[in-house]
Formats: sequence, structure tokens, C-alpha cells
Amino acid sequence: MPLLVMKFGGTSVADLARIENAAQKVRAEVARGYDVIVIVSAMSGKTNELVGWVETTSKLYDAREYDAVVASGENVTAGLMALRLQEMDVPARSWQGWQVPINTTSAHGSARFLSIPRDHIDAKFSEGFRVAVVAGFQGISTEGRITTLGRGGSDTTAVAFAAAFGAERCDIYTDVDGIYTTDPRITGKARKLDRIAFEEMLELASLGAKVLQTRSVELAMRYKVRLRVLSSFEDTDETSGTLVCDEEEIVESKAVSGVAYSRDEAKMTLLDVADRPGVASAIFGPLADAGVNVDMIVQNISENLAGHSGATTDMTFSVPVNQVDRARKAMEDARAAGIVSYDDLVIDTDVAKVSVVGIGMRSQVGVAARMFAALAAENVNIKVIATSEIKISVLIDRKYMELAVQALHDAFELEKA
Ligand code: ADP
Ligand code: ASP
Ligand code: MG
Repeated sequence: MPLLVMKFGGTSVADLARIENAAQKVRAEVARGYDVIVIVSAMSGKTNELVGWVETTSKLYDAREYDAVVASGENVTAGLMALRLQEMDVPARSWQGWQVPINTTSAHGSARFLSIPRDHIDAKFSEGFRVAVVAGFQGISTEGRITTLGRGGSDTTAVAFAAAFGAERCDIYTDVDGIYTTDPRITGKARKLDRIAFEEMLELASLGAKVLQTRSVELAMRYKVRLRVLSSFEDTDETSGTLVCDEEEIVESKAVSGVAYSRDEAKMTLLDVADRPGVASAIFGPLADAGVNVDMIVQNISENLAGHSGATTDMTFSVPVNQVDRARKAMEDARAAGIVSYDDLVIDTDVAKVSVVGIGMRSQVGVAARMFAALAAENVNIKVIATSEIKISVLIDRKYMELAVQALHDAFELEKA
């Protein structure tokens, strides 16, 4: 039988009525002749609640126990979805990650897939079951402990199953009807895209557009999974939503295709670090060892500043705001151990990152100038800039984030097709 993967996010399984609504969509595909692997998230808000409980209990928590707690949300929805389908006379069985087993690395909190053996689920399909409901976001490490894949990880579970089982398509059902030029919650002018290139979606996701987890797009690109985002609250058919596809399948060629933002950034600056070989490695080594995700990095030349000797520099970098404590501790420990020396550590937790993304940037000049002009016109001060071939990101005060997204959406005329 042809096979589909259908993933339902948190708002799509937020309560029993929504689970029933999602189950009806699954039943419709079964009626069309598909076997279906359903990937479910936890009920919306559940994972946040679980994370909150962990953080309240232990500030610098043991990541193994974090995973043991936060993976549980998906277990509930997987079982409920299977029960609801059974009530609709659809033969269904649920699976937690360890039962499949979804084998992952032991990087707790951000584990990666190692393998997804098909035999157990295939055996159930051959017994006549039509739906396998799998708890998203979780797996089992080589040490036999529960792991999770990072926030939004159910998307990645879905794509990985689509790849492992050769699904015809991987449909991501969510609370918006597709992928937009920017988060439709930030501006009513956001426009739904029919298609978006893998590479653009990869950048948008990694720069904060949480409609898809970055790793899910990476996997879809690598394994050529037909990946689609669509609404779980509307009637949908094969043409609904937004298809994430190869660049060649896209006709639109604007310099910028989308604007992304990330609210939860923090800027850390080490003042007066020695300006000599090995210093960057002495700083970012301990941060990496502490599991801190460093994003933008700027090394300021401070030799001309009053009061500085010339032999030192300032190092600024951004980290997710919830990793600030971890990062600060890593730096203080490294200083105490004589690995790095710095005068002071300045932390700004009121920043956000705003980025423009587009494959058209490769061939069009002036994108940065247009971006900075749009921000200047709104009096938004830029703190850090980072660029790559198809994106430009800036770090700004968080209070200007929405204004900046709207200004950039207007400046690049994204509301127009
Ligand atoms: P789910 O719980 O279904 O996984 P998420 O909240 O993770 O849903 O992702 C969907 C949300 O992503 C939308 O409600 C929307 O606010 C947000 N989003 C951010 N950027 C975009 C974008 N470019 N297009 C569509 N949605 C976006
Ligand atoms: N429930 C997890 C989260 O909120 C995984 C997911 O929904 O994709 O991050
Ligand atoms: Mg999500």
C-alpha cells in the first residue's frame, strides 16, 4: 500500500476535540487507500509546562532527566490518537520512541537520529493495521535512555519516518495554512507561498521561523522527501498548503523571499580578552563543551579605544537566552582555571535577531544596503550583523523586533507575488 506520513503539531492535538478532528483527517487518507504513519506532538503548552517544571526543580539540570520529563507529553497524545482512531474503526497502534526503536545519539536535549528500524511497524501493517501513531520529538540513546530532539523536534521525527518508510509525502499539519513570507502573527501583510526552496526554508528555520524545525528541512533535502505544510483546521486536499521543494521547481525569483526573527537571543561580550592566537578557541571551546549554542560572533578591535592597551580585544557573541547561565558559568570556570582571561563579561538579554533570506541574493546586489536603510528609517539601531550567501541577520533591541520585521517585509515588497 502507498504510505503517507501525517504530523500534527501541538495546537492540532490541543484537546480531545482537536485530536478527533486530526483523526478524521487520518481516516480520510486511510479511506483513500493509504497506510499512514501519524506523528504527534504534545498537547500545546504541555512541553513548555514540563520544561518549566524541570527548570524550577534544577537550574543547571541533568539533561538526561530533562529528556525523561519533557518526552512524556507526546506519549499521552500518541495513545489518545490511537484510541480515537480505533473508535472510528481504523486499526491503529501507538508507539513510543523506544518501542520502535528510534535510535538516536546521546546528545540529550538535541539528539540526532542514528536509525529507525522498520520491522516492528511493518509487521503491524502486514497484520492489517492501517495506522501507526508514533510519539514525535523522542528517541532512545545507545545507552538506553530516553532522548529528545530539541524544541519543534516532532517535525524532524515526521521527515525521518517519511524517509525511512519511503512515504509518498510528509504532511505537516499545523495552525497556519502554509509557509508565509514571514510569521503571519507579526504582520497581516504576510503572504502564503505555494512553494519554497529547501535552502530558503532551511535558513528561515534556522533563523527562527519555527513553522518547521531546521533539522527536518535538512533531512527532507538530503532524502528527497516531499514535504508539505498545511492547516489542520481547514478542509485540505493534495494542492493545499506550501510545498518545500528543489530550487528548480520554483519560478519566483526575488532577492528576498522571507523575513525571520528570533526573540530569544542574548548578547554576551567579553571585555579585554588578549588579542593573540588561540584566544577564540579558548573561549568557544569551553562554551561548546558546556553545550552552549553560539550563533553570531564579532571580534571588536579595541586598540584605538581610550583605556585599552592595544594587546586586548572585545569578543561579542550571541547565544539563546535560556543558555545564558550555562554560558556565564562556562566563562567563569574557564577564567578561574586560567584558560581565558577577560576584564568583564557584559550580558544583554534584551535583544532579538531579525533576518532576510532569499536565494535571489546570490545574484542581486544591494540587498544589505536596502535592509539597513529600512531599519535606519525606523531608527532601529543595529548591534551585530552577520551574513551568508543567502541571508543577512542583525541583532537589535527586542522592543523593535516586530517593527523591524514589518519594515523589512515592506522594504522588500514581500506582500506582492
Ligand atoms: P506546531 O505546534 O504545529 O508544530 P508551531 O507553533 O511550531 O506549530 O509552528 C507554527 C507557527 O509558526 C505558526 O503559528 C506561526 O506563528 C509560526 N511561523 C513563524 N514563521 C512562519 C512563517 N514564515 N510561515 C508560517 N508560520 C510561521
Ligand atoms: N512538543 C515538542 C515541543 O513543543 C516537540 C514538537 O512539538 O515538535 O517542542
Ligand atoms: Mg512546531
